[in-house]
Amino acid sequence: MEFDWAPEDARHRDEIRAFLAEVLPADWEEISKHGPGSDTQAAFSKTFCARMAERGWLTQHWPAAYGGRDASAWRHAVVGEEMWAIGEPRGAQYMNVNWIGPAIMRFGSEEQKAFHLPRISRGEVLWCQGFSEPEAGSDLVALRTLALREGDEYVVNGSKIWTSYVDNAEFIFLLVRTDPESKRHKGVSVLLCPVDTPGVEVREIPSVVGARYFHEVFFSDARVPVSALLGPEGEGWNVVNYALQYERVGAARYARAARTLDRLAELARERGMLDDPTWVEKLAEARGVCEAARVLTYKVIDERAKGRPPSADTQLARVAGTRADSAVANLAVELLGAEALEYGSYADANFRLAMTAGVAVGATEVQLNLIASRFLGLPRD
Ligand SMILES: Cc1cc2nc3c(=O)[nH]c(=O)nc-3n(C[C@H](O)[C@H](O)[C@H](O)COP(=O)(O)OP(=O)(O)OC[C@H]3O[C@@H](n4cnc5c(N)ncnc54)[C@H](O)[C@@H]3O)c2cc1C
Repeated sequence: MEFDWAPEDARHRDEIRAFLAEVLPADWEEISKHGPGSDTQAAFSKTFCARMAERGWLTQHWPAAYGGRDASAWRHAVVGEEMWAIGEPRGAQYMNVNWIGPAIMRFGSEEQKAFHLPRISRGEVLWCQGFSEPEAGSDLVALRTLALREGDEYVVNGSKIWTSYVDNAEFIFLLVRTDPESKRHKGVSVLLCPVDTPGVEVREIPSVVGARYFHEVFFSDARVPVSALLGPEGEGWNVVNYALQYERVGAARYARAARTLDRLAELARERGMLDDPTWVEKLAEARGVCEAARVLTYKVIDERAKGRPPSADTQLARVAGTRADSAVANLAVELLGAEALEYGSYADANFRLAMTAGVAVGATEVQLNLIASRFLGLPRD
């Protein structure tokens, strides 16, 4: 069994690091603390992604026919680790390349592919994800936002909540119910809806996590052309399932956690704390959690690289990734005390990010339920 990186992927990691050193501004760390939803990072992501695209790296894992280079899932993983570790300079565009583009490739009409994929591949468009609703989070199939067909349009009414990045986004990947009589997974559809559609209103939800993280999006008789429907009407659940498999391991949280851990270990060394074996043990334990998440994620990437359908390993990797995030964030507080929570500090930015990790993209408890039923054969609730 070969655990090391292929030489060409290892070389690519060096190229990416050199590129980051060249293009990231001196105050990048400051910019990144505000989160990918901030105006500064949204604007920066366009410049940055355009430069990645110029080198052919932004969507290199996509098929050449859609603006990619047919690169392997491993090559894309290298990019994801390096980006996430440094604070994700692609901003919200990580979603475009990880799952929105692939979902359009898989389910889109020729017209949708021709319009959206080149724009994503050039790094010039921001998207957001409109799934959760006030009464439909973990239980997403309880969604009620209604899109009723009238001629060549859908008339959309309802609301979405916790929508990240929407204030700077051009499109919302919108999950709606197109059959008002339908229940649960049936009768839902996905619309590729322009955010500036009349009748769409965005309101920020102030949050301890940071400014511009969360929003509500209200739809009042918003008219969306039928041509914006992704895949067959009423079969949106397949689209969402496909997309979420990619999203759950799309963010290399373990890479960010490991980078933070390096910094913590350095600080502990500078402060003479490593003379105390308790701290050494705690740092080592946290490293173990990060490594476990990395290896479990690699299992999913390996499945993808071999063209196998996604398995429940995705849930394992997701839970391990969020645990790595919290283990390191909690250790930072133990090590640094109040200093770790000082607003604007690096440790604070990580702590706030880790706080939400177990909720975003499906709560940890829900992932654990899925693991229990799929791996252990336990009955579903
Ligand atoms: C940082 C962040 C970014 C987000 N961005 C977006 C976005 O861009 N677009 C979007 O659509 N949504 C987004 N969300 C919303 C996210 O998908 C939901 O918060 C998540 O699905 C949980 O739903 P909820 O908040 O309604 O909580 P609930 O579903 O009400 O859950 C509340 C608690 O109950 C527990 N729980 C619920 N059901 C079960 C169960 N069956 N068994 C055991 N425990 C259970 C949960 O684990 C959780 O702890 C984001 C969330 C966060 C934190």
